[in-house]
Amino acid sequence: MAHLLIVEDDELLRDGLESHFQQAGYQVMTAADGLTALGLLRATPFDGVILDLGLPQVDGMALLRIVRQQQAALPVLILTARDDVQDRIEGLNAGADDYLTKPFNPDELLARVQSMLRRASLPAFSAGQTGDDEPVSSKQPSTSSGDIQLDGATLRAWVQGHAIDLTSREWVLLDLLVKHRGHVISREAVLQAWQAEASEGGGGGTVASNALEVYVHRLRRKLSATRYGVRNIRGLGYMLEQDAP
Ligand code: CA
Repeated sequence: MAHLLIVEDDELLRDGLESHFQQAGYQVMTAADGLTALGLLRATPFDGVILDLGLPQVDGMALLRIVRQQQAALPVLILTARDDVQDRIEGLNAGADDYLTKPFNPDELLARVQSMLRRASLPAFSAGQTGDDEPVSSKQPSTSSGDIQLDGATLRAWVQGHAIDLTSREWVLLDLLVKHRGHVISREAVLQAWQAEASEGGGGGTVASNALEVYVHRLRRKLSATRYGVRNIRGLGYMLEQDAP
């Protein structure tokens, strides 16, 4: 039984989430503030954390940074206020695995947490790993540019000698960035490429544009051992960054 920590200062929401996740079969502990949460995290091994960012005492962002230093692999989903894009990006950069904006549907939160825990239990960089039920197409061509090679058949990239396994969407995103090195790729271009890829692979469905940040964040993490990164050009899109910090 997965053991969850829910950190939320709004009592009504906290109690509601606690019973929702308990009914879904989770073992749940709750904290109403950051200090209590830190104490629980030290004492108890959790499988995942749902973390509200606006908290009294130690706020969610500070808590997230502390958690990341101590338990690098612990899956954390953050709850942010609607439209607070800066918070969301900061949270993802601080190491959150996913986010949901308030108000949200508890069933969506449950689905997100389930998929976050499933991803966390997958072996890192296993061959053919794809998250989020993404269709895998074998028709993707390969790309090579300088010290980056991308193989569409295996969804693998070699970046400065590091072998990096990608999900189908991450592959398409990196492929676009590499092909347009030195130029900004618009969010729309990425979404269109994803949709083209999904229909080619036999899958359907549209991609929510706010999912893009999540994929960019994951790709950044996978590239973190290299000198490459993904730069967010506010209001325009994304760009492959060389000599990333
Ligand atoms: Ca709050």
